Amino acid sequence: MEVTVNQKKLILVQGDITKQETDAIVNAANSRLAGGGGVDGAIHRAGGPKIAEECRKIGGCPTGKAVITSGGNLKAKYVIHAVGPVYRGGTHGEAELLKSAYLSSLEIAEQKGLRSISFPSISTGAYGYPIKEASQIALETVLDYLMEHKDSPLQEVYFVLYTPFDYSVYAETLRRLAEHK
Ligand code: ADP
Repeated sequence: MEVTVNQKKLILVQGDITKQETDAIVNAANSRLAGGGGVDGAIHRAGGPKIAEECRKIGGCPTGKAVITSGGNLKAKYVIHAVGPVYRGGTHGEAELLKSAYLSSLEIAEQKGLRSISFPSISTGAYGYPIKEASQIALETVLDYLMEHKDSPLQEVYFVLYTPFDYSVYAETLRRLAEHK
């Protein structure tokens, strides 16, 4: 499924983000940039040790922010490591922090002049963010960004959803948001 905003595309696909050929892929990292399970583990396994080495040099990243490394052996040239919040009931600023993790990634991509980027569903695995709410924040943040940054070099923003269920939730949310724009 895809929608076009300012001639830029937001595209939903189901699959494995490590296989994406966009300029950058985004990692759902932890604040120590220490690697872990889920999409983080998959990216480090596929990308090789160079990414972890660069993460070690950077040292860490606060929740709600992002940092960039090379893509190592991945097809993507860069990995943007975004740190989403751990979900603790929704009353600890989680929504703002999740939005900020997406925005921070988009800003880094724009600064680097990247044309395409792929996001996973940040925080909805081990970090426990309910996916319906998270999908609304993720998609709204990207749609607003594309609307407000007409001159950004970013032309394609992918969401790569790992399971058919996750894809269906994102697709339903995007349908709803697109109707109201
Ligand atoms: P977090 O700690 O931010 O919740 P997780 O990696 O545990 O991060 O989960 C985030 C999302 O990434 C989950 O929806 C999970 O299904 C998904 N995921 C896991 N592996 C991959 C992959 N190879 N490609 C894309 N998404 C993935």
